[in-house]
Amino acid sequence: MISDGYYSNGTSGWIEVICGVMFSGKSEELIRRVRRAIIARKKVQVFKSHLDERYAGIYHISSHDGRTVEAVPVDTPEQIAQLIEPDTQVVAIDEAQFLAPTVVDLATSLANRGTRVIVAGTDSDFRGEPFGAMPQLLAVAEVVDKLHAICVICGSPASRNQRLIGGKPARYDSPTIMVGSTEAYEARCRACHSVPRRDEDQVRLL
Ligand code: ADP
Ligand code: ZN
Repeated sequence: MISDGYYSNGTSGWIEVICGVMFSGKSEELIRRVRRAIIARKKVQVFKSHLDERYAGIYHISSHDGRTVEAVPVDTPEQIAQLIEPDTQVVAIDEAQFLAPTVVDLATSLANRGTRVIVAGTDSDFRGEPFGAMPQLLAVAEVVDKLHAICVICGSPASRNQRLIGGKPARYDSPTIMVGSTEAYEARCRACHSVPRRDEDQVRLL
């Protein structure tokens, strides 16, 4: 970690990405960086994907420990582009995994014109596979921090999002929205992460 993500060559902007599983502290870290930028008297604008309505506080970024900063909810990177004011020096975007791939172009043009861009997002989905535009953002960033949660099963560092439907591990091909069933997510390590596949189920039946 380069001094909590801060990186400057003195002339241009840059992109810093905070990634990791749910509960790994991405929002906490984003809020911390935004607070420090405000203390440094920078003009900061904060956005978050509208898809995440955690704690119903959609005009705030809430971390799981209850800290908040004001954020503007958006559905698309184009909305962010329209809302950015010319004198803004720092742009922070939370829940970036839900945004369209044009978020990469947005972050790149902002950094090219001198803006510090802080992007936070979950880099892998419940299957453990790359999530949305996060892989591209990681590739174009100057600074990347991958955070870990604590595995709720064994206490090891957690690098996977365990999706549970009706209390059981969600299958690989489970639809994104499951009507009428209770869904939950847990932080787990690789060993405790479970994503049953249909072919594995058949093998077990033999
Ligand atoms: P993220 O944005 O990555 O989902 P947050 O910043 O919102 O994470 O929340 C991080 C906080 O969540 C931790 O400081 C801790 O208080 C809490 N927490 C709850 N469950 C876990 C867990 N399994 N591992 C680590 N932290 C957890
Ligand atoms: Zn574990």
